[in-house]
Amino acid sequence: MQPFSIFELAKQALGKHRGWQPAWRDAAPKSGYDIVIVGGGGHGLATAFYLAKVHGLTRIAVVEKGWIGGGNAGRNTTIIRSNYGLAGNEPFYEWSMKLWEGLEQALNYNAMVSQRGVLNLYHSDAQRDGYARRGNAMRLHGVDAELLDRARLRQMVPFLDYDNARFPIMGGLYQARGGTARHDAVVWGYARAASALGVDIIQNCEVMGFLRDQSGAVCGVETARGPIAAGKVGIAVAGHSSQVAQLAGIRLPIESHVLQAFVSEGLKPVIPGVITFGAGHFYISQSNKGGLVFGGDIDGYNSYAQRGNLPTAEDVCEGGMALMPMIGRARILRSWGGIMDMTMDGSPIIDRSPVDGLYLNAGWCYGGFKATPASGWCFAHLLATDAAHEVAAAYRLDRFRTGHLIDEKGVGAQPNLH
Ligand code: FAD
Repeated sequence: MQPFSIFELAKQALGKHRGWQPAWRDAAPKSGYDIVIVGGGGHGLATAFYLAKVHGLTRIAVVEKGWIGGGNAGRNTTIIRSNYGLAGNEPFYEWSMKLWEGLEQALNYNAMVSQRGVLNLYHSDAQRDGYARRGNAMRLHGVDAELLDRARLRQMVPFLDYDNARFPIMGGLYQARGGTARHDAVVWGYARAASALGVDIIQNCEVMGFLRDQSGAVCGVETARGPIAAGKVGIAVAGHSSQVAQLAGIRLPIESHVLQAFVSEGLKPVIPGVITFGAGHFYISQSNKGGLVFGGDIDGYNSYAQRGNLPTAEDVCEGGMALMPMIGRARILRSWGGIMDMTMDGSPIIDRSPVDGLYLNAGWCYGGFKATPASGWCFAHLLATDAAHEVAAAYRLDRFRTGHLIDEKGVGAQPNLH
């Protein structure tokens, strides 16, 4: 694309927007590719980008049933962090954080990565000890973590209800390098960069089945736009992993639930970073437009609906009122939902499937946005080399059979959300 002068830009803005080039090619399916990725969310597009960029593979397609970023990639609350405690998780999420820190240069695209800090509050001695342990584990992995006392917090976030009778705030675990990134810009940035390297991004192309060779191995996909042959197929469909894996006869240890989020009207800047309530289901940040962006726990029943119900909305608002009563004066502008594929230990799967030629990237629970760069990097590594990347080596499918669980779901499901 030719750069516009300021006058041309003004002319375009006031005129009929002629001459704009699409950021990526909306490709039609070819008869075959080396690798087909199912799912055009952040993970699928990042995988395609790193396959091309790091492994030099260019016969790659991403097939998306709707439009790219129409799933959870465009529905999340944009929090990025690497404050995990277990050895199976911490190196992976820290690798993701390092990739976030260089992402805009790598993609040549403004993804609005903002390291504004993530603060997890604690409300009891036992919770403080747990956070101290996690912070120490982070530091042992070379990751930044700080345990802040109440006095420090009062300076930093004076608007919280420190003396709440039921949930007094005693302190918090702080990761200064955590923060937010603009979710749809991340999708567009990966799409643009992958497309420039020759990746075909094929929208409106639902995968409805798998092609098998004589040995039973997967050798392509059956789509709404016809069959596409492939040397290997990677599934990265987030909230639809069970359904798509089922097309190959695989039953995944996953349950799907709705997760809701909310945004208020735009307000003056007040919340400096991301804050999570340690005694209930509530977390919050403030968008660059001023909206308070907040959410809580999943709705308590299995569903593929991308909308939730009022009991969870009420629970989230109660958490908000307990933590920062001033939120009661803000008006909610809109709410939405996305489908979470919950594994039983709260950690994801990046692994070969039991069917040859088919690879799995699934089970991201609440936390897959922050994982986007490392997930793409490690899934690309697996697809290109047939070996697990060292930081994702624990994300095996068979851990649910062998018992090698990475049970850090407390980091997702409870006090330290998202
Ligand atoms: P998606 O964008 O959902 O991509 C999967 C794609 O696969 C979809 O576009 C879908 O249309 C496509 N697909 C499905 N079936 C087929 C098929 N048969 N054929 C072709 N394509 C198909 N994570 C964080 O780290 N931080 C947060 O703050 C955070 N907040 C969240 C808040 C909410 C309300 C929600 C819903 C999620 C949140 N998450 C968060 C989780 C995060 O959004 C997801 O884990 C992550 O986006 C999933 O990966 P993805 O981007 O590839 O998914």
